[in-house]
Amino acid sequence: MQPKEGRKVNRSKIRVFRSLFCLLPLMMLASRVQGETKVDPKTALRMLNAQQQQFEKTVVQVTDNVYTAVGFHGANTSMIVGKDGVIIVDTLRGPSSAARALEAMRKYSDQPVKAIIYTHSHGDHIGGANAMVGETMPDIYATESFGSAEGVNEAVNPVKRKRNIRQFGRKLSPLEMTNRGVAPAGTADNDGGKGFLQPTVKVPKEGLKTTIAGVELEFHVAPGETDDAMFIWLPNKKVLFAGDNFYSSFPNLYAIRGTAYRNVLKWSESVGKMAALEPEFLVPGHTMPILDQDLAVAALTDYSEAIRSVYDQTVRGINAGKSPDLIAHEVRLPDHLKDKPYLIEFYGSVPHAVRAIYSGLLGWFDGNPTTLSPLHPRKEAEKMAQLAGGTQRLTEQMESALAAEEFQWALELSDHLKWLDDADKKLARKVKIEALRGLAGREYNAPNRNYYLSYANELESGALSEIWF
Ligand SMILES: [Zn+2]
Repeated sequence: MQPKEGRKVNRSKIRVFRSLFCLLPLMMLASRVQGETKVDPKTALRMLNAQQQQFEKTVVQVTDNVYTAVGFHGANTSMIVGKDGVIIVDTLRGPSSAARALEAMRKYSDQPVKAIIYTHSHGDHIGGANAMVGETMPDIYATESFGSAEGVNEAVNPVKRKRNIRQFGRKLSPLEMTNRGVAPAGTADNDGGKGFLQPTVKVPKEGLKTTIAGVELEFHVAPGETDDAMFIWLPNKKVLFAGDNFYSSFPNLYAIRGTAYRNVLKWSESVGKMAALEPEFLVPGHTMPILDQDLAVAALTDYSEAIRSVYDQTVRGINAGKSPDLIAHEVRLPDHLKDKPYLIEFYGSVPHAVRAIYSGLLGWFDGNPTTLSPLHPRKEAEKMAQLAGGTQRLTEQMESALAAEEFQWALELSDHLKWLDDADKKLARKVKIEALRGLAGREYNAPNRNYYLSYANELESGALSEIWF
């Protein structure tokens, strides 16, 4: 046990968190356009670099006998030290990173692992379990519905794999990489899932109170990022392990890698329940623990309200007959929330969330009969070329859009030109690549940035078929 050293780490981390609190709002004022995650390229990089402090590799002493390893892989793993054993909360993606994190936490206790808890079934939290087990097999806790999060859409795995690689920037060069919004870039993934152990104790819907190694624990089922999520509450220490229903970024209410609908309303409610417990210490599934009661309660309260506000605004827009495109441009975080450091859209995005809520509640049809049976994209491209005064004129428009750094418009025009047999498709493809890189440079939303850059590289390498353009 080396509690003194642990305390030192702890204080420096509070400082990091507090300095971020002061720094970010100032950075935001300069150039952030409401409703977009784009700023000038230097600011975008500065913001992503500042966010990097949220997952720097370290072991944080949360409070007496509670330790969290941050930055050993994409997610966090924690160790609670009891009378005659320790309890592990989440196990990272694979056994090698889990073993390294456990070794670092073992400085504080060498007692056997009595229990492992999975907050939810995402791969970055469950794949390293076997590296944390000693001579006797511990109980492994998860919710009754564990595993329901993914798997429903295995039929589309071939394309989900591609999109996953892009969202996380898994194949970007070191120069292109920044981070993943709530996780470092370039985590080694070769042994992902190899250490997974099946849960042995199922937590029912109504939750569970128990004592393990002399530590009182409460398991609260709390759907959010996944339907099978729960948070863990230590009533005596007032420590809350939030899983992925809270991390320091606007939440990923929709993942562009492709996910089924995440129940946004329940997510907001689950975070509200966490706030009601008034934790003194908040340990997220990713990013630094918050070690101050006022900050922890404020963060959870704001988080719940932000999710609810995006949901309510979207529902109002839907009932006013607006299309998802329009609502996505209109919904904003309330003024008192938009610059909170834990609500900046480094990972989740408000417009993406709006579209997810729309299709989650109503499916793809926006209610406008024009969109019931739109023109074939080739036909629409031909009409666009006619409107522009011919394919050559449309091409010139695309090039001037790029020159004027109207990157989104350049992308949209290049997508029309790809359908036209008399177009210079090589040029259109080149413009698309440059426009994607232009957009990426302005993005502080890590998934968007990584997706633009990855897609540009794939187009350039010739790896993508004509369908993808
Ligand atoms: Zn996670």
